[in-house]
Amino acid sequence: MRICITGGKGGTGKSLIATSLAYHLGKNHKVLLVDLDVDCPNDHLILSTKREVLKEVKQTIPVLNENRCKKCGICSNICRENAIVFIRKRFPIFLLDQCNGCKACMVACPANAIEEGERAYGVIYKGKNERIDMLVAELVPGQKEGSPLVHEAIKLVGENKKYDFVIMDTAAGMHCTVISALRECDYILAVTEPTPLGAHDLNLILDLIDELNIPSGVILNKRGIGNEKEVREITKRHGKKIVADVPYSKEVMEAYSKGIPVPIRFVEKLVSFVEEMK
Ligand code: SF4
Ligand code: SF4
Repeated sequence: MRICITGGKGGTGKSLIATSLAYHLGKNHKVLLVDLDVDCPNDHLILSTKREVLKEVKQTIPVLNENRCKKCGICSNICRENAIVFIRKRFPIFLLDQCNGCKACMVACPANAIEEGERAYGVIYKGKNERIDMLVAELVPGQKEGSPLVHEAIKLVGENKKYDFVIMDTAAGMHCTVISALRECDYILAVTEPTPLGAHDLNLILDLIDELNIPSGVILNKRGIGNEKEVREITKRHGKKIVADVPYSKEVMEAYSKGIPVPIRFVEKLVSFVEEMK
């Protein structure tokens, strides 16, 4: 079973919930934790787990063959990412930061002057601790679009059927990288906190989940730091339930900062809820 831990807002404790859930489920089940927060994955740090490179993910980039180029500018017109600058009578200039590797320019060039090159785009790491296995997807600094890397990581998950639970920790927000992960899971847990911003962003992520039409529930983290009323109302309005809550506690924060798992008593309800889904 694949479960996504997500949240509209950063800082709600999404990674803490994902790592705690995975770790404690790992006591009685085969569990794979997949960190898909590709800009800044930190699950391995929270669980003090060493990681090693499993796969380097490359992206296609255009390489100009000046001997063939006729300086016609067709490639520049076809590129939807505005990644090709063309000035009359000059060779086109490729802005690789904006290129997503779609190859449209290669297909469109009438002189076959654009060849395929490649560049490092992201890395998928593997890790293991005493209870669980881990995959971590991380973009190479400077890369912007994380969806292809998320797809690569999920492809690796799909090739391995030995796990009872796959816990996928998405990035925060509602962008393509998050949606790519959410689409691939059986159940979504949206993490929020009892603050006005937490409530606002919960509403947005539940709107998105409604669109995707995937079974889901809400986790109220940091219970006690503010008024829960708005979070509860929004959850109810979307026809969802708060399936578990985690109190704000010095002990939880200390475990987080020391890179040790959160004690089971703080997440017992959540672990039981997920176990019952199996
Ligand atoms: S379409 Fe091909 S020939 Fe025309 S400018 Fe671009 S690279 Fe050169
Ligand atoms: S590969 Fe696609 S995005 Fe990149 S320069 Fe060519 S057309 Fe533009």
